[in-house]
Amino acid sequence: DTSALQNILSSIWLSCSETAEVFEIYNLAAQSHVHQSFAMPEYTAKADGLAPLAMLDWIKGRPDHSKIRFYQASTSELFGKVQEIPQVETTPFYPRSPYGVAKLYAYWIVKNYRESYGLQACNGILFNHESPRRGETFVTRKITRAVAKIATGSKDKLYLGNLDSIRDWGYAKEYVESMWLMLQQPESSDYVVATGVGATVKDFATTAFSHAGLEWEKYVEIDEKYERPTEVDALIGDPSKAKNVLGWSATTHWQDLAKLMVDADIENL
Ligand code: GDP
Repeated sequence: DTSALQNILSSIWLSCSETAEVFEIYNLAAQSHVHQSFAMPEYTAKADGLAPLAMLDWIKGRPDHSKIRFYQASTSELFGKVQEIPQVETTPFYPRSPYGVAKLYAYWIVKNYRESYGLQACNGILFNHESPRRGETFVTRKITRAVAKIATGSKDKLYLGNLDSIRDWGYAKEYVESMWLMLQQPESSDYVVATGVGATVKDFATTAFSHAGLEWEKYVEIDEKYERPTEVDALIGDPSKAKNVLGWSATTHWQDLAKLMVDADIENL
């Protein structure tokens, strides 16, 4: 409901516009699960495409919009069927899911409102970012939770889909800092945020299991229901622009991420 969304923004604005010099809006709200987006394409289009438009329209309608900065959670899923490796800000997009297509609309409407109306709005093209707080149905967390359960004896199998896809997994905690940095720049722009290193789902599982002293082959089975109608085979980002302009770079790579997520899930249990 876009007018409800705009009303919420208006009441937040009312409560802080007198004291705040700058108002930063970080739009992280979305239907963010790629596989789920095939089952709910229309909802995904509204939440991920039209809701950002409603926020931009709200900003545009404010006479004092020069005080407002907008961050859009864009995504490496825009690159989908990748046209080059690694992917940079100028790599052509080719989304492969209703999620990617909805986010493509949001990406362009942010850029269009920036160019048409001078809004201060940035797209953070973030590659997969993980942490112990990651949703339990995303592959990294699904693996690390299963490892913790298997290690402590409460589970004996893990069912996964495509083990060969490559992702550039970084640590969410560090990626959030890049979002903030984007909104501190004098000129709004769009940035790829990634580690620059890719690994397969199988690599991630191998590291996670072996961190708990287990061999993944004994526990992982394939279930086709976790495969997608169209897959994104290999995402690897080149974060040079983020490094050069924002002074940002990733320090935690996928191996350390797998280990810290396993440790956190074992502790949770
Ligand atoms: P995504 O990159 O945003 O789609 O993040 P996910 O964590 O959902 O998926 C990453 C990759 O893992 C995709 O290529 C999936 O096809 C693959 N994958 C393999 N098995 C699974 C699974 O059981 N669940 C999920 N979510 N992904 C899986």
